[in-house]
Amino acid sequence: MLSAAFLEAVKASIGADIIDTSPEIMESHGQDWTRVYKPDPAAVAFPRSTQEVSTLLRLCSEHNLAVVPSGGRTGLAAGAVATQGELVVSLDKMNRIGEVSKLSRTVRVQGGAITAAVHEHCEKEGLTWPVNFASAGSSQIGGNIATNAGGVRVVRYGLTRQWVLGLEVVLMSGEVLELNGDLEKNNTGIDLRQLFIGSEGTLGIVTEATLQLAPVPQATAVAFLGAENLSAVLGVFEAARQQPNLTIQAFEYLDNDCLEVVMRHRGGARPVESDCPSYVLVEVEAESEERAQEDLAAWLEACFEQELVLDGVVAQSSKDAVALWHLREGISESLTREAFLYKYDVAVPVIKMADFEKGLGELARDKCKGYPVYLFGHVGDGNLHLNVLKPDDVSKDEFLQTCRDAEPAIFELIQSYQGSVSAEHGIGLLKKKALPYSRSATELELFRGMKKIFDPKGLMNPGKILD
Ligand code: ZN
Repeated sequence: MLSAAFLEAVKASIGADIIDTSPEIMESHGQDWTRVYKPDPAAVAFPRSTQEVSTLLRLCSEHNLAVVPSGGRTGLAAGAVATQGELVVSLDKMNRIGEVSKLSRTVRVQGGAITAAVHEHCEKEGLTWPVNFASAGSSQIGGNIATNAGGVRVVRYGLTRQWVLGLEVVLMSGEVLELNGDLEKNNTGIDLRQLFIGSEGTLGIVTEATLQLAPVPQATAVAFLGAENLSAVLGVFEAARQQPNLTIQAFEYLDNDCLEVVMRHRGGARPVESDCPSYVLVEVEAESEERAQEDLAAWLEACFEQELVLDGVVAQSSKDAVALWHLREGISESLTREAFLYKYDVAVPVIKMADFEKGLGELARDKCKGYPVYLFGHVGDGNLHLNVLKPDDVSKDEFLQTCRDAEPAIFELIQSYQGSVSAEHGIGLLKKKALPYSRSATELELFRGMKKIFDPKGLMNPGKILD
């Protein structure tokens, strides 16, 4: 519960109407999509400007009230969960999107702007912010930046980090920092902006950003291919990289179980005739439709000749392409509807991926009492999503215990491949125990030192990434 003194101070300097304590809002805004922790916020605040965020954080600091920054709440590592009576600071009311500059290929947006709205806004000018994923309709720019979001275009454009020119952040003290502004080049010491990107709201709240934009591809072509295993899928990827004209926009892997579960929940015909153990969705870009189709066809012929591909289909229309993309984008949602899940989001160097995937699947089945295991991911980036599904006849408690007991063995396997225990979802509350498998003790000590500098009282998103 908020103290009367704090409420009085908010009322006097901002207005009491920015605070909401209705049960529905506390339930919805007290957590993200992780759904493992019980939300228990003191209240939810909806500031309307950077100035209000600044005043609010200064008051929280003075009253020793911890805060949880909240964006679109689509995160999967419990980075935006309030479990200990924190004040949730939502940027829902700060969603302004500025004018697109065609000269600098940038747009200035507030932290609460929805990702898909930014895409739509920029597309009218033939430009795009090339960070995209299935939850773009709900996720917010501030949250994407705080988590250095990845998604399905990383193989082409890289992570969020590469597409943020400038940041405005508010520290727990209420100080407002403008980091890098609109500068393309700025070699004036340590780039503080990059510290905030991926810090999961533990250092400050991103209130505005200048985003860098890329031209919308002129034409794309999509294919859905079946293969014997991940090793063959990686062969397909290597073949693509050897085609000088082929620019890959996306290269997404799923196993047959993932395809079946999507078909079960979304219906429709199978994309390819034969049942294959592994599938890959490929999107390529070119300067015209014909050219994209031609490039894709030439490359596919090479793949069939080398017997890397067992079956395949090329989208003949944009409607076909959307249908094929639905198969990939529907996986998370279909799995969630199927049963309770235990998720891993891991990465290893691409060259070690085939070996690693085989070992990972076997180990997960072995350590998790044979529970069903589903694998998909962004194989062009070495990123796999492993989902363990709770069987109907196993209680949630028993399931969670089994999965937690299995974790050390799985993290050790990842460590032995010099991999990452969190490729794109972050650490949040969920993966804290896993962190030492990917980061050294010295690195963690440096994290702690940095946290102390930005947030000496430890009030900004406490307990996330580090205890
Ligand atoms: Zn992903």
